Amino acid sequence: MTPTKGIEDIFRVHVLGVGNYYSEFHSTVSFVVQAGGRFILVEAPCELPKKTREYREIVGAVYPGEHDVPLLDGISADNIDDLVVTHVHGDHAAGLELIAWYKMFTQHPRIMDIEGNPSNRELRPRLYGTRDVLCDLERSMEPSLSNRTGLYFNDFFSPEIVEPGSPVNIGEVVIEVMPNHHNVPGFALRVGYRGRKLSYSGDTRFDAGLVGFLSEADVMIHDCDGNSAVHTSPEQLKAWLDSSDYKGRLYVCHLADSFKPEDHGLTPLPENDFIDV
Ligand SMILES: [Zn+2]
Repeated sequence: MTPTKGIEDIFRVHVLGVGNYYSEFHSTVSFVVQAGGRFILVEAPCELPKKTREYREIVGAVYPGEHDVPLLDGISADNIDDLVVTHVHGDHAAGLELIAWYKMFTQHPRIMDIEGNPSNRELRPRLYGTRDVLCDLERSMEPSLSNRTGLYFNDFFSPEIVEPGSPVNIGEVVIEVMPNHHNVPGFALRVGYRGRKLSYSGDTRFDAGLVGFLSEADVMIHDCDGNSAVHTSPEQLKAWLDSSDYKGRLYVCHLADSFKPEDHGLTPLPENDFIDV
C-alpha cells in the first residue's frame, strides 16, 4: 500500500499566466509555487487579487472534490508574502506596485505608519532576487512608492538578496539562482523542496550553461518566445531536448498567440491549472 501523501508533501505549481506581453488570450507569465502550506509567487502579474480569484474559481470547478486541491484558498494576495521577480520588465514586475500598496494599506493597515513608526515591519512581503534585479525594481518603483508618502521601497518590501552559488531558504524551500541572458539584468532559478526540484528560466536567450543548470530539476519551465535575440526559439529548445538525456518534464511559457508548442514537439505550461513537481 502506498502511503497517503500529506499536505506537507505537496510541491505544486499553480499557473496564473503563460503568455507574452502582447497576448489577447493569455495572462502574462506568473505562477504560485506551493510547498506544503507555503505559497511563493514567481513574477508579479497586474491585478493579482483578481487573477488569483479567477484561478481559484476555474480550478475549483475542474477539481470539485474538497481534497483534490488542498489549500486552494491559499492562492490569494492575502496569503502570499514571499515573492520572486526575475527582472524589471513590466510583464513580470508591474504587479509589484499593487502588492506594495495592497499589503501596506489594505491587508495590514499599516505596516509602517505615516509618521515613520517602524512597527509591524515583519509583515512586509519578502522580495527575493539578485542585487542588480532588486536595484532595478527599486529604481523603477521609486517615483510611485515614495512620492509624498515619506516611505521607501524597503518600507513596502523586505528585499532578500540571492546570489549565484549562495542558496537561500524560505522555510524548507531552497532557492538557487543563475544569471540569464536577456536585454536587462535577470536570473533563472531552481526551487527545491523535500528532495524534488523545479526550475524556471525567466526571460532568456538560449544558453547551454543555463539549460544545464535548469535541467537539474524534475520539472523545468523555459521561455519559448521565438525571438532568439532576447528569448529562446522552439527550434533551440527542441534540439536541446532531443540531444539531452533529460528525464524530467519540460514546459514552455512566454507564449505568443500565433505559436503552438505542440507543433514543435513541446508542451505548453497550462494556464489556470497546476502541475505537481
Ligand atoms: Zn523580459
